[in-house]
Amino acid sequence: MSGLTRAGASVNESVSATVARLRGHFATGRTKPIPWRLEQLKGLDRMLRESGDELTGALRFDLGKAAPESFLAEIDFVAAEVRTLRKHLRSWLRPKRVHTPPHLQPAKAYVLREPLGVVTVIGPFNYPVQLLLAPLAGALACGNTVVVKPSEAAGATAALLDELIGRYLDPEAVAVVQGGAEATSALLAERVDHIFFTGSARVGKVVAKAAAEHLTPVTLELGGKSPAIVEPGTDLATAARRIVWGKFMNAGQTCIAPDYVIAVGGVGPELEKHLAEAVREMYGHAPAESPDLGRIIDEAAFDRLARFLGEGRLVCGGGHNRDERYIAPTVIADVSPEDAVMGEEVFGPILPILTVDALDEAIAHVNAGEKPLALYAFTDSDLTRRRILTRTSSGAVGFNAPMAHIDVPGLPFGGVGHSGLGSYHGKASIETFSHAKSVLDKPLAPDTLRVVYPPFTALKEQVLRRLR
Ligand code: NAD
Repeated sequence: MSGLTRAGASVNESVSATVARLRGHFATGRTKPIPWRLEQLKGLDRMLRESGDELTGALRFDLGKAAPESFLAEIDFVAAEVRTLRKHLRSWLRPKRVHTPPHLQPAKAYVLREPLGVVTVIGPFNYPVQLLLAPLAGALACGNTVVVKPSEAAGATAALLDELIGRYLDPEAVAVVQGGAEATSALLAERVDHIFFTGSARVGKVVAKAAAEHLTPVTLELGGKSPAIVEPGTDLATAARRIVWGKFMNAGQTCIAPDYVIAVGGVGPELEKHLAEAVREMYGHAPAESPDLGRIIDEAAFDRLARFLGEGRLVCGGGHNRDERYIAPTVIADVSPEDAVMGEEVFGPILPILTVDALDEAIAHVNAGEKPLALYAFTDSDLTRRRILTRTSSGAVGFNAPMAHIDVPGLPFGGVGHSGLGSYHGKASIETFSHAKSVLDKPLAPDTLRVVYPPFTALKEQVLRRLR
């Protein structure tokens, strides 16, 4: 594991030495004071402001992302998260007094948020800036030292982040390990105090197994098939535009993108028309020439997606070019639950439409699969809202708007079941990256605890029963 470039580390430092160095630095206590934490958040903010163009360039290189999309979904997204953390940090970290029951009084009981120690953050390729730096911000806000492992698949962004992190953050407290499965395995073998992983359920299991070896707590931000249920009676043109926007952003490589549509009660044909129209509106007649359409991350991902192109009935799109890792925004109808495209997370610009007769059937279909990271429903009906909220389980629900919930700082972001474990963003990040230490502080005098000491007497028992 030597020879990897690593911010804040000598080129030949091993992963073990990096983790040991971060642990040693944590033990000095220098990362605990709030001013140090705020300084790191300020550093992140400066990094994002001063290096926006470089980051945008790297994202364009790796994923063909349009600059405004990179600004919104990566750079400014993290900047907003950093602003939220800076604004509320002191109040979120303030000890929280809790009630002390009468039989324990006089005493003070409160909850302290303490740093965990060394935190490992492992990122995926699709939003390589957001999904590495947003958890990093939370971990630093909580006073931890952090080792981050960007995705090797977005190599230009990983190299740039390595350099920027070394330049803008405390190199004693933050280290970057680069590499793929091998480097990640070496990192996972190290004992740390928390592992924050974003990626596939397949690798999530590898992470959870490795963490179990040291009883290390994990946060798993995974994926899955997030449905978009469309009911009759909704404004189909607007619903279609929103679905197309959410689905084809970043060429469909978004964990909370609508993975497929469930068209309820005959909305299919009309919806198909609007979806095709919305694709044309956003990406033109020749999407390959649109500067706003991203590219598939690599050939392996392209080949996996190309298998789906022959399935169902083509509504629009279908064009593809392996050399350019290009797949046109594609909508396919008449798919069946047995088709390959319905058997795994699509994670690309292909939108299958499943048709059902009634909402109950849609709900049954969702419940037959793994719990989604997000569930979207386009509806005007409060009854439908209630049914969906009470009869399905998912990381999040978006009514009439895909993806937008991620942008609400007060909403924890995370999955449930196979779509993830734990959550973050804003206050949820503080809860994830710190330990809630319970403290009871009782004066020695008067010794009111005497009533629970043996020998027990009738009088003591009477007093205890009255106090409880
Ligand atoms: P991935 O699981 O292939 O890779 C994620 C990270 O794990 C990378 O850093 C990679 O180097 C590392 N890795 C890969 N194979 C490994 C192995 N065998 N052992 C140890 N480490 C390994 O995921 P990806 O392809 O980068 O991202 C796509 C997946 O991530 C999708 O399933 C998507 O839904 C999910 N995702 C989830 C969220 C979320 O916030 N919940 C966000 C983005 C992506």
